[in-house]
Amino acid sequence: MKPRKPEPSVQTSFEEAGVDAPAVPPSAANVKRRKLSLDDYVNGVRACDRAVLGRAITLVESNARQDQELAQQMLIALLPFTGNSHRVGITGVPGVGKSTFIEALGTNLTTAGRRVAVLAVDPTSGVTGGSILGDKTRMTKLSRDPNAFVRPSPASGSLGGVARKTRETMLVCEAAGFDVVLVETVGVGQSETTVAEMVDFFLVLMLANAGDELQGIKRGIMELADMIAINKAEAENAVSTRHAKREYMAALRLMRGAHPAWKPPVLAVSGLHNQGLDLLWDKIAEHREIFDKNGVLSSRRREQMRRWMWRMVDDRLLRAVRTHPAVAAQSAQLEAAVLEGKLTATLGAEAILKAFEKD
Ligand code: GDP
Repeated sequence: MKPRKPEPSVQTSFEEAGVDAPAVPPSAANVKRRKLSLDDYVNGVRACDRAVLGRAITLVESNARQDQELAQQMLIALLPFTGNSHRVGITGVPGVGKSTFIEALGTNLTTAGRRVAVLAVDPTSGVTGGSILGDKTRMTKLSRDPNAFVRPSPASGSLGGVARKTRETMLVCEAAGFDVVLVETVGVGQSETTVAEMVDFFLVLMLANAGDELQGIKRGIMELADMIAINKAEAENAVSTRHAKREYMAALRLMRGAHPAWKPPVLAVSGLHNQGLDLLWDKIAEHREIFDKNGVLSSRRREQMRRWMWRMVDDRLLRAVRTHPAVAAQSAQLEAAVLEGKLTATLGAEAILKAFEKD
């Protein structure tokens, strides 16, 4: 049976009402209730107040115009405190062991005194209504770790939308003092390229026993990889792991690689048994050191920002065109004409752009 709400005129406190006060820290209770000012957001994030951090990310994820304006002001104020984390992207097919791996790696890092944020890019959640990564029961240990912060993928219809929100969330987490940001994704559409474009290091998890096709190994993913880790490589899988390692190394040799200063290594690990993860992180740290010294890290980040800006322009323009009333009024007819072979695609495109440009 539901307990009856205490009558405010009679009982003015939990004590008087004879019930225990809810176990909510005062700042969190406070923060939940009131509207936050720009200063509240900025100061709360800088102090890594979890309740404010959560709300700041919700603000970034909001599609409401008013929220977006405030979010941009907040990001501008936070910008001087960003850029200090090690950004690592992690991908792999469902079942490869991503969440188990991230839980183990993240815990190793927090034990070593690092502060770890885990974000996700899952375009499936918006498109299909279901989600591959969004399940809240994942990474339960890391979620409770005071030095970690796990945020599921924002729900959004487009990869562009999810990517913007994740990038901006990454900046918020950096300003809150997280010095490692792990961005997880699953190989759906362009999501791997999108994540590779927002991180310093891109790690691909593979299995030794699954066929290449099953794992969606395309030339593209090998080109993006800064490292391949064969997961679930326990002793009983030693033979298949060795075989897979040789194959991946041979495949990587055929690639030009992202930069001559780094040859992507192939490692064997077990996320479940925390095997090989220290060596794996040492390698990622080595990559960071090399690219910090030769200046590639900062130039790569600048280039990522430039591309991101244009990508957002592309996304916004495309949305504006597609939702324009004059375009919407004609598009079905134009599509049908193109499908029936009565109109060339070029003329169809011209008609759409003309309708858009008229206003
Ligand atoms: P995700 O879908 O990529 O996030 O994969 P999960 O982390 O949820 O793992 C999928 C399944 O593989 C679970 O049953 C895990 O227990 C198992 N698993 C994950 N990592 C390992 C590993 O290193 N070794 C073995 N043998 N099993 C693992």
